[in-house]
Amino acid sequence: QLSKRLETVVSYIPEQSKIADIGSDHAYLPCYAVNKGIASQAIAGEVVKGPYLSAKKQVEDAGLTREVEVRLGNGLEVISPGEVNCITIAGMGGALIASILEAGKDKLTDGPRLILQPNVSAKSIRTWLMENEWDLIGEEILEEDDKLYEILIAEKGDPNTHYSKELEKELLLGPFLMRDRNDAFIKKWNQELRQWKNIVNNMEKAEKTEALETRKNELLHKIKMVEEV
Ligand code: SAM
Repeated sequence: QLSKRLETVVSYIPEQSKIADIGSDHAYLPCYAVNKGIASQAIAGEVVKGPYLSAKKQVEDAGLTREVEVRLGNGLEVISPGEVNCITIAGMGGALIASILEAGKDKLTDGPRLILQPNVSAKSIRTWLMENEWDLIGEEILEEDDKLYEILIAEKGDPNTHYSKELEKELLLGPFLMRDRNDAFIKKWNQELRQWKNIVNNMEKAEKTEALETRKNELLHKIKMVEEV
């Protein structure tokens, strides 16, 4: 039984794909995708020895050593250009995911589909995609065990296709997500608002400095944007 979070990631993998799951940890996602017949072949990439070994064990226990290959290495270093048609990266911060994509740009020349699940800062990923000519083709937000998860799907293409004139807001909140505004979305941004307002309150009690004022104004700007949506 896979988590709802990873199951949703898998649901965006094109049929009969060869996938690479980067930062695979236990390799649950590639094993599941192959078992379900969605991926025909998979690579599980891990940079840390412990998770790499547990991925290897999981693949062996599942009897999938012919279909799922576990490779030790940093980010996209474990694949060669054109080797896979879909890459999943889940369960890390958005900035780390964006840095993995940036460092491995030369592996992305064939334009595989990217399915990315940041735990925080999806904005870093949307910004990277925009700056690197990737079209964000879909997004999801879901709740599981009291946590909120965003999933972004991208393909090589015109990055402006799914954004409108409200770019700053859309990069922060997600162009698809802010149109749907489902329960998970409302919950996520109400939580963020509550936190930001607390911080602003504390800042108002603290001694004024220029840096603090700048930070406070940034937060007030974000609060206004989110409240408008
Ligand atoms: N993808 C799984 C999931 O979503 O459940 C595991 C997420 S786990 C929290 C993050 C994993 O990413 C860890 O096993 C970590 O070792 C790995 N990782 C972090 N940075 C990485 C990198 N640059 N290249 C490959 N793996 C990385």
